[in-house]
Amino acid sequence: MAETFDLIVLGGGSGGLATALRAARHGARVALLEPGALGGTCVNVGCVPKKALWYAGQLAQEQKLALDYGFASTPGPLDWEHFRQLRQRYIDGIRERYAARLAEAGIQVYAETGRFVSADTVATSCGEELRATQIVIATGGRPHRVELPGFELGLVSDDIFAMRSLPRRIAVIGGGYIAVEFAGLFNALGSEVTLHVRHRMLTDFDEELVDALERGMGEAGIRFARQVEVTGLRREGGGVVIDDAVHGPGGPYDAVLWAIGRVPNSDRLDLDAAGVRVDDGGHIVTDAWQNTSVEGICAVGDVTERPELTPVAVAAGRRLADRLFGGQPESRLDYGHIPSVVFAEPPLAMVGLTETQARQLHGDGVRVYRAGFTPLQWAVGGRRHPSLMKIVCAGEDERVVGIHVLGSGADEMLQGFAVAIKMGLRKRDLDATVAIHPSSAEELVLMS
Ligand code: FAD
Ligand code: NDP
Repeated sequence: MAETFDLIVLGGGSGGLATALRAARHGARVALLEPGALGGTCVNVGCVPKKALWYAGQLAQEQKLALDYGFASTPGPLDWEHFRQLRQRYIDGIRERYAARLAEAGIQVYAETGRFVSADTVATSCGEELRATQIVIATGGRPHRVELPGFELGLVSDDIFAMRSLPRRIAVIGGGYIAVEFAGLFNALGSEVTLHVRHRMLTDFDEELVDALERGMGEAGIRFARQVEVTGLRREGGGVVIDDAVHGPGGPYDAVLWAIGRVPNSDRLDLDAAGVRVDDGGHIVTDAWQNTSVEGICAVGDVTERPELTPVAVAAGRRLADRLFGGQPESRLDYGHIPSVVFAEPPLAMVGLTETQARQLHGDGVRVYRAGFTPLQWAVGGRRHPSLMKIVCAGEDERVVGIHVLGSGADEMLQGFAVAIKMGLRKRDLDATVAIHPSSAEELVLMS
């Protein structure tokens, strides 16, 4: 006989944990299946170890700035193994806290994969059957791997965090979040970095700021191979060479990182047994309430066609649990105005529409304000460091439809402005706000 629960959650990453914990708080009897490490991509091979590496890169940069300021210390290389262990200790702590919270909430955790047997029954990898009236799929995604000769000579983002030393020469293939972030942080830590971009970098971000970021990355020493068409990898000259149909061979490199997108973990769930529909890319199709095509089965996070961001998975999971078990029938995530940051060097942050998107939507009714400068902390040291901000407004009352910030501190700056945009911010509200001086953020209330 199958053991019965109110809710079965497949996946113990950002979305699955949020759903399970919120549902249990509402009194639901919950089973959570997670074959890997609790916390999923974000905690183990995503946001958390990446941000720690990014901080290391920031410190490396600031050591150089400190020298410019007159400090006597000579910048030295990162003790990679020491740092890797510190980072791992921090991550272990997060996992332990999750395990404790799940136990405290009375959630039954199975360290196994699950697959559908029918619309209300899941089989664990040990063959046990579990049944529930509600099942939530939160199985996330994995790096995209393509069938090219020598693909396996390169790394994917998961592998970076297991590396035992900093590569001297690294090539990054891709132009999305992961490619740009790793190119920046490896460069800051002292590697020679070449970024192989197929078309443009960061196509979802405002073009003008992306161009400024690209110039800044070039000035910081990152090399670019543009309009690439990578046909494979091979070993040569003591490293890995990239074969490219446009540029010919490139390298050799000590490491090559494939950062060419991610694919959803929907292919090993036997979705057909339940009748759950996926789109052409394998993403589970959901409506505005996270419902799949089958009643009683919902999906959240990267396995769906929604933005692949941790706070999106968490928010969708919590709202869903509130709707299913918390007596809040109207609860659902509003996917509009989701802020996002690329932890590039310097970081690039956005919320709302790019200028191009706004002009497509609002035509001539768009007004753009911008400010470009070098932040004080770098200018004092005699360094140039790009900072560019842009406010995109639409309509006669100049409603703010997009805010874009490139520069030091952008990652910490934008959250509050995201709240304001959600509340219907207008340019005149910014004009009426007194600045905090001296700061970079003050530029956002001083533009005219
Ligand atoms: P995941 O966190 O991937 O969790 C899914 C879980 O399901 C996994 O633990 C997996 O083991 C489990 N699973 C898979 N199959 C099964 C099965 N059959 N049965 C049971 N369990 C299963 N987002 C940000 O917002 N900010 C960032 O700075 C950021 N940085 C990132 C950096 C990198 C390098 C990467 C790769 C991603 C980054 N992201 C970032 C994206 C973020 O990590 C994801 O959006 C987020 O983890 C998605 O959560 P999820 O719950 O949907 O999936
Ligand atoms: P993205 O989808 O962001 O970018 C994929 C990139 O790979 C694109 O530039 C694409 O180019 C390029 N590409 C695809 N195939 C090839 C190929 N064969 N050769 C060369 N380039 C290729 O994926 P990522 O892997 O960077 O990240 C996945 C997701 O994870 C992100 O979309 C984001 O949601 C999330 N993430 C979030 C972070 C954050 O919040 N800071 C950090 C890291 C990840 P083209 O444009 O031409 O298709």
